Amino acid sequence: MPYAHRELLALPLALTACAALAGCGGAAGSATQTPSQPSPRTEAARATAPAGGGPATGAIPAGPPRKLPLAGRTVVIDPGHNPGNFRHASEINKKVDIGTTRKECDTTGTSTNAGYTEAAFTLDVSHRLRDLLKARGAEVVLVHDAERPFGPCIDERARIGNGAGADAVVSVHADGSAVGNRGFHVILPARVQEGGADTTRIVAPSRSLGEKLVTQFGRATGTHPANYIGSGTGLDVRKDLGGLNLSTVPKVFVECGNMRDPKDAALLTEAAWRQKAAQGIADGIGAYLKG
Ligand code: ZN
Repeated sequence: MPYAHRELLALPLALTACAALAGCGGAAGSATQTPSQPSPRTEAARATAPAGGGPATGAIPAGPPRKLPLAGRTVVIDPGHNPGNFRHASEINKKVDIGTTRKECDTTGTSTNAGYTEAAFTLDVSHRLRDLLKARGAEVVLVHDAERPFGPCIDERARIGNGAGADAVVSVHADGSAVGNRGFHVILPARVQEGGADTTRIVAPSRSLGEKLVTQFGRATGTHPANYIGSGTGLDVRKDLGGLNLSTVPKVFVECGNMRDPKDAALLTEAAWRQKAAQGIADGIGAYLKG
């Protein structure tokens, strides 16, 4: 394909590139609100309130509730690939239905020349992102946390976002392109209506999420939109990714940089830069959910 998710096919078996591969799939969806739960203090105050509705003796006066900016919102983080995929080639090569076609369950992802894997990178950034979003009050779900030997498959990754009723889903990746190709980009779902795939309702909100991410990721990391895709916009649109096709909630992929380029790889390998990347993604999600 024109640029089938340039991923390193490091397995002895011929794994397909991430784009073509399973690892690259996400779920997004229309904003389903998760009702915020009453605080324990509120519940306690109710419990002690006199039946007549008068002031409760000894009750703590209720000041204005301190609401964190993402309280009541659910964000699903999809760490691309799985460190164990390399050892489960036959399982991740099995094909699953992505609506438009059948595609491998998942891929191994790429790596730097020094052997820092995309799967390790995506998990690290996802952990940092989770902590930042939780600090802002969001309910956060990780699609996987390397607690399983491989996968999940791309269709399951989408279903997890859908089932959580996520307000936003971000699939975290790094690219595997040619040396000299640098920078980040965000992949948006194309309009797809075929088989079990219908992205009609998520195309617009996903684009909005993606645009916010491009702005905030660049600001936080000081890096630029990709110089090899998206004509400098930092945005790409694809219809071959199961994780996007099968999503019913707003979802995008973030390709944080190119692991095969030495200069980008130096950034991706640095923990302090990964914290900036997570900050940029968190800021983008925050801007989207408040807008
Ligand atoms: Zn990937």
